[in-house]
Amino acid sequence: MIGTTLPAREVPLGGLRGLSVQRTLPHRQLPTIGAWCFVDHIGPTSAPMNVQPHPHIGLQTVTWPIEGRIRHRDSLGSDVVLRPGELNLMTSGTAISHSELGVGAEPLHAVQLWVALPEARRHGVAEFEHLADPPVTGGPGWQATVFMGSLADVTSPAQVHSPLVGAQIALDGAVDLAVNPAFEHGILAVDAPLFVDGVDVAHRDLRYVPPGASSIRLAGQGTVMLIGGTPFAEELVMWWNFIGRTHDDIVEAREAWEAEPVGGRFGRVHGHGELFVPAPPLPGVRLQPRRRR
Ligand code: MN
Repeated sequence: MIGTTLPAREVPLGGLRGLSVQRTLPHRQLPTIGAWCFVDHIGPTSAPMNVQPHPHIGLQTVTWPIEGRIRHRDSLGSDVVLRPGELNLMTSGTAISHSELGVGAEPLHAVQLWVALPEARRHGVAEFEHLADPPVTGGPGWQATVFMGSLADVTSPAQVHSPLVGAQIALDGAVDLAVNPAFEHGILAVDAPLFVDGVDVAHRDLRYVPPGASSIRLAGQGTVMLIGGTPFAEELVMWWNFIGRTHDDIVEAREAWEAEPVGGRFGRVHGHGELFVPAPPLPGVRLQPRRRR
């Protein structure tokens, strides 16, 4: 699969009364870019973000507001108001639950990304990190805030468990961005259309760049998200908020959440009483790993 653009599709977030988001990953032909397995682009919107407590396994959630604030609470006791330019990184390990709510009536524009945890880490403990001041690098026509991994001369202190990069780039003109040739990359057109290696990418779409490139030519104006990493070798079974390796991993997590959503395996998110997001019904077939086509 060489040089593909993944189109954004509208998906309801947090149930039917929640806000809609534009999702580009996973794509039916491409489940992951590096360990990145989920790309949601939220807003800009005045609809309230109101995602009540829900569980995760097998992944890291990467929450990155561009405009507006998000209050994060989780079953570790974290309670953080996240601002633009700051990172929330939640590592689920075997079990965590969390909520995410918009703050006040201000408009919200954000991306939420997931990173699949490799086998060596997915059975570990849950952790939460808030990074108030990710490193910044840049040059003529571009400035990058590197919230995960390394780009150019800077490295984020956020914990990663496979080689990867995640950055917000403010683009003003054209740049040949030096990248790790062992990585595959995705470039999300956050604000406006842009050109990636001379190819026109529509606003909100995600351009895929396969491994082997030592630079990527970006041309345009506005905000761009860059994700990348070494192709993820493990097959993933992804369903709802869970990432496992088998159908049974998912069934086990779903049953634990349904049996005791508040105070059970996934803990308790304080401040929500007995509110939680119920798991949808499982499909009537065995869940299969997502494969590249
Ligand atoms: Mn979540």
